Order: sequence, then structure tokens, then C-alpha cells
Amino acid sequence: MPAVATHCPYCALQCGMTVDDTAVVQPRQFPANRGGLCQKGWNAAAVLTVPDRLTRPLLHGRPVDWDTALDFIAERLREIRDRRGPDGVAVFGSGGLTNEKAYLLGKFARVALGTSQIDYNGRFCMSAAAAAGNRAFGVDRGLPFPVTDLAEADAVLLVGANVAETMPPFLSHLDSAALIVVDPRRTATAEQAKLHLANRPGTDLALALGLLHLAVTEGHVDRSYVDDRTSGFAEAWQLAVQWWPERTERVTGVSAADQRAAIGLLAAAGNAYILTARGTEQHASGVDTVSAWINLGLALGLPGRPGSGFGCLTGQGNGQGGREHGQKSDQLPGYRKLDDPAAREHVAGVWGVPAESLPQPGRSAYELLDALGTVDGPEAMLVFGSNPAVSAPNARHITERMSALDLLVVADFVPSETAQLAHVVLPVTQWAEETGTMTNLEGRILLRRKALSPPPGVHTDLWVLRELAVRLGQPAHRFPAEPEAVFDELRAASAGGIADYSGISYQRLRRGDALHWPCARGTNGTPRLFLDRFAHPDGRARFVPVQHRGPAEPADEAYPLLATTGRVLAHYQSGAQTRRVAELAEAAGEMFVEVHPDTAAQAGLADGDLAVVESRRGEVLARTRAVPSMRLDTVFLPFHFPGAARANLITNPALDPTSRMPEFKVCAVRLRPAAGEGDE
Ligand code: SF4
Repeated sequence: MPAVATHCPYCALQCGMTVDDTAVVQPRQFPANRGGLCQKGWNAAAVLTVPDRLTRPLLHGRPVDWDTALDFIAERLREIRDRRGPDGVAVFGSGGLTNEKAYLLGKFARVALGTSQIDYNGRFCMSAAAAAGNRAFGVDRGLPFPVTDLAEADAVLLVGANVAETMPPFLSHLDSAALIVVDPRRTATAEQAKLHLANRPGTDLALALGLLHLAVTEGHVDRSYVDDRTSGFAEAWQLAVQWWPERTERVTGVSAADQRAAIGLLAAAGNAYILTARGTEQHASGVDTVSAWINLGLALGLPGRPGSGFGCLTGQGNGQGGREHGQKSDQLPGYRKLDDPAAREHVAGVWGVPAESLPQPGRSAYELLDALGTVDGPEAMLVFGSNPAVSAPNARHITERMSALDLLVVADFVPSETAQLAHVVLPVTQWAEETGTMTNLEGRILLRRKALSPPPGVHTDLWVLRELAVRLGQPAHRFPAEPEAVFDELRAASAGGIADYSGISYQRLRRGDALHWPCARGTNGTPRLFLDRFAHPDGRARFVPVQHRGPAEPADEAYPLLATTGRVLAHYQSGAQTRRVAELAEAAGEMFVEVHPDTAAQAGLADGDLAVVESRRGEVLARTRAVPSMRLDTVFLPFHFPGAARANLITNPALDPTSRMPEFKVCAVRLRPAAGEGDE
């Protein structure tokens, strides 16, 4: 059999690759990766055959047949629903699910369960960027241009993005650009930059305001663009005027000279881009922070100008599609709003149910997890493709909440830390064992083809949803289990919406058509948004006046350091998949904390010592890495490791008021040697 052309299971770059019937992965030429793969991609197939791969349903830890497991779940769900009402049951999805799964999961929650209590781990990923994009441009598509456009850039400002580790092939698009990297750490990406602005964690918003101040005072504002294509500049400037370079330096730690150099590089570039990622977005002020970077881009006249632009780098494999088709608490397919009467009518019509039967918006991800097992909260939760025991902030508390449930069901292909808490575990297919569509970081819809047979006894998530829906009294035809049939329904549900997929078919995708949404029926999609107008009714982009707020939990005498979290090359998200792959575990097998040698010494630690990193919420065990380029006030922890090494044991669940994004990226901590270390 010839090798099957497909895409990587991991990040949103969705690199093109082939997989043959012996599970050998090879890179292939595809615009997003230009024939490159990272270490995770090269090892992608190994995860399907890990020794503890789940192949039988587990009920209270014991293998059972599918009917026994599904009958048990359905009976418990009915009992809880009868007693507590539909909101007694919660659903938690993932930005790693295919579009078909995300769509059917949202429909299952609203129609088969009737619950408002559905959200997903993408809330922890792209929600700040999405909210800021919506309010500035009227639409949220991570990159509103093909990623290949970046090859023409003269300068790129990368904010809180360590692409050299998260998506290395992406760097090939930046070869000709002068890179300016904003990151508290000297990351592998910052190493390649012309200019690295190592700001204090939690001060990105102040830095963006300071750069806008300089853009204005040094005469770099594109006045005709601001007049013709935007609104609200004066209000934004009223706040940015307070951020003169020396004040910005005092707050952010970035010198006035470096601020001037950064704005000079951007202003001198014929083609320039500003790109943000989680480092600047995962804050309790994440939406305002992204707005501040957008304001800077608008002042320089970048968004919607050919060869220039503003974008947010989506993280999870289907982080874009996953936020468009209804697994988010306030959303219906096509990026429609659940509280919009016209949207409810349209989608209910496609689903064949009365619009008034659809629930209203429910809790956001952290609030949902926080409510589990409480008097007013859900008593049951179904989890698909997510591992909140490791990936949620304040993870010990969230683990306790999940442990308090009457029923926790996890559909996964490996026994993740969340699956280990579950009453019922359902073994499902993954990636190359099934067909589905993904929407990559540039809004292009891709067909990820089945290349391998799943292990005997394993079923798809779509099949699981159909089987449960039928047991809950739904007609089988309402929950198709074939991906193409689900996609055709998604097309109809999204038609006329912001993320309109109605013109995209499996047939066109099999042919290799490059289709970016919106793609209405009979059209060829929209590779570049905003060239003529932005998506607000007046066609203008909006400056949003924002002010710096600082970390929700600043450092103080008791907790004098700031902790920030992030990723390493070898691992993806909570690490439940990549930690099981021998080559990746060998490359990065142990939790560590990066800290300046002087800061380590002050805490009684040396390179290689086992350290305890402690915040007000918990403590993490990590091996000390003394890194001279670290800021003296900052420590860094990767968040891929389980148990006592979970970085999220210490993170702060303070939420952004608009997006409900938790403050993953900064919290106050202190350091000490673990028991037995430093005793000599
Ligand atoms: S993890 Fe991302 S960058 Fe690496 S191969 Fe997969 S899609 Fe490409």
C-alpha cells in the first residue's frame, strides 16, 4: 500500500507527513512546514503502540465489554439528569479533537444531554487571543493570512512565542526577517533574534503601551491608515501617552534603548508582522494585553496590508477549528453565539430540534472544573481528549474536584492522569487510525486521513457519542458516526456564520484544494482576511483603550520570585502522549526549573539539585537548572510532567474578565532545596 498523505497529530502547524502501513512517518512538502518536521512529528507513530495503550473499556478499573460500559454510563447519566436536571452533567472537550468531533460533542451536550455545562481546554489556550481579535477586527482567525506570507517579512515581532521549541518548522518562514522576541527568558527562539526584549513576567501590556508611545512620539504612525481603516486611536493614545520610555523601562525591565531599537526595526521594515502566543496571552489581563499589541500593529498600519499583518499563533492541533464549532460554553457551530436568537434558530433547524430546547451559555473551563461535585455544580463529567489533572491551573484543587464527582468518564487512548481518576475509561482511536478534518493556524481546513488500522476493540469518539446518544433516547440518524457525514452536517450548521465551511467538502480536500474559511458554498475560501475591510459593520478595525494592570499575584516578601511556565521541544501539552514515547522521554524525561545561578545560590541550590518551587496553592518538585541568562527575579517550569512535578500545582487560576483565561504565565513563588538536598 502506498504511504498515506496526512498531517502531524500535534501542534497547529499541522505539518504535512506521510504514514505507511508499517507506521513509518516521513515528512512531505506542504506549505506550512516546507518538508520539515520536529522531533515530535518524526516520532508521531510511536504513540499509537505504547505499552499501556488502552484497548478495552474500564469500569472502576476493570476491563469490561463496550455494552456494559456504555449502559452503565447512560444509566448513571439518566439518573443524575432526573435528579439534578440537565446541568448536573458536564462535558469537557479539547482543541486536539477534529472538527467533526468538536462539532458532534457540542451537539451531544446541547441535544442529547441538554446541558449548558460544556467547555474545553482551548479556553486555556486561545481564548484571550480570540476575544481580542473579535473586538479589534470583528473576527478571530489566528493568522488571517497564509503562513507562507511571512517569508516576505523584513521584520517580525514575536511576543511570548517560543516557536523554536513548539513548532520548529515555522522558523523556516522567518528566514529573511529581523526577529524581535519579547520573552522573559532567553529561549531557543530568542537566541535567534536580532533583538531580545526580556521583560519582567506579567508586564507585556506595559511594554506594548510603551512601544505604542514611541511609535507616536517618534513619528512612525501610519496616519492615513489610521484615518481610513480604524477607529478609536485617540482613546487608546490617551492611555499610551502615560507610558514614556523610562517609565516603561522601570515597570518592564526593558531598557529605553531596546524599546527604541524595537520600534525602529518595525518602522523601518517594508513588510512587518506582529505575532503573539501564549506567553503574552495566558494572563488575567490577557485580552487587554493582546489588544495592546493589536493597537501597536494598527498604529503602524500592519493588519490587512498585503505583506504585513497581525496574528496569533494557535497552539493545539485543532486549536482553531476547535474554537469554531460549538464545544465552547457560549458558542454554536460556525463561530455563532449561543445567545443569538437567529443563530439558535439556524443551528436548531439543522439539528431538527426546537430552538428553545437549546440551553443557554454555561460556565467557562476553570469555573466549570472548579464547580464539579459542589452543591450547585455538575455531579458527572465526560472528558474527551483532555487531561485537566495536569493541564488545568491550580491542579491539585481541580484534581480534588474531579475526584468528588459521582461519575467521571474519560475517552482517551492512553491512561492519562485524568483517566486514572475516572470511573469509566473508554478506549478510542487516535490520529492516523481515523479520518477527520483539522483547521490549522492559518485557518486552512486539512483532511487528516486514516493510515493505520486501530487495535481491535477500539472505537472512534464519534461512535461513542452516537452510542451514548441512542442510549439517552436520541434517534441514531441524528448522531452520524462517519466523519464525512458529520462534516457535511457541520457545513450546513456553519453556513452563513463567521466561520463558514459550507463550500468545503471532503471531495475538495481530497483533491488538495487550499481552502481557508470563510468558504461559502461555491467559493474558494479566503486565504487573506481584511485586505479591503475589517469585519465590523463599519469595515474599520478598532483600537481598544487598555491599561497595564500587572500580575494578579505580584511577588512579595513571602514569595519573592515570579514563576512562568512553558513548553519544551520534546513534549506536547500535558505530555500524556509524548511522555510515553521512548525517544521523547529520553530527550526530556524529568521536570526541571530554570533559575539564575545567583538566585539558586540564595535559595541554597546548585545546578542539578532537586528543588521545591512553592506558591500559595502548592509546590512542585523540579531539578534545578542554573541558567545564567535567566532574570534574577524569574523561574521557569515546563508544564508537561505529572504527579508532584506538575507545574500547574502552583499556577494562579485568576481569570481574565472577558475571556476567562487563567493566569498561567505568572505567579509568586519561593524556592528551597527538597528534603535531603544541600544538607552537606
Ligand atoms: S509538533 Fe507541530 S511542528 Fe512538530 S511536526 Fe508536529 S505539527 Fe510540525
